[in-house]
Amino acid sequence: MARLRSKNKAVCQNEECSYYRKEGGKEITQQGKNYAGHQRFLCKHCKVVFVETKGTPMYNRKLSERKIKAICKELVEKKGVRAVERSMHVHRDTISDLLHSLAMHAKEMTAYLVHDLGLSTYEVDELWTFVKKNLKGLSPTTINSLNRAKQLLQLA
Ligand SMILES: [Zn+2]
Repeated sequence: MARLRSKNKAVCQNEECSYYRKEGGKEITQQGKNYAGHQRFLCKHCKVVFVETKGTPMYNRKLSERKIKAICKELVEKKGVRAVERSMHVHRDTISDLLHSLAMHAKEMTAYLVHDLGLSTYEVDELWTFVKKNLKGLSPTTINSLNRAKQLLQLA
């Protein structure tokens, strides 16, 4: 079924472009999908193609967005990594890797999880608590990122 055409929210992900992550004046067109089914975009200013997931933990992952969403939902329900491994048929290393990636991008991910994956702010908060508890040896930068994400949730 065809989806309604929506205004594309993508911004250029090329750091060398003068429209890097700028909304105003951007000229981004859709460029089909990659093998994982992610939308590709072309910035008409720098002529660089990027995928919708660039700059998020979804980037360069073989898991589909649907699967990542399902894993996040399971983690929110306080299932352990091994329990999720069994129910989702995804190796535990892949899950911890995803958790690390989520933690590193916590601030950006908060908006993504709430708006695009439809999790409630409460669920996202639970997810960050889970991440902190389950990942030993997080770097100070990552902890900082998680704390900023929690602050954002409290403002929402
Ligand atoms: Zn560009």
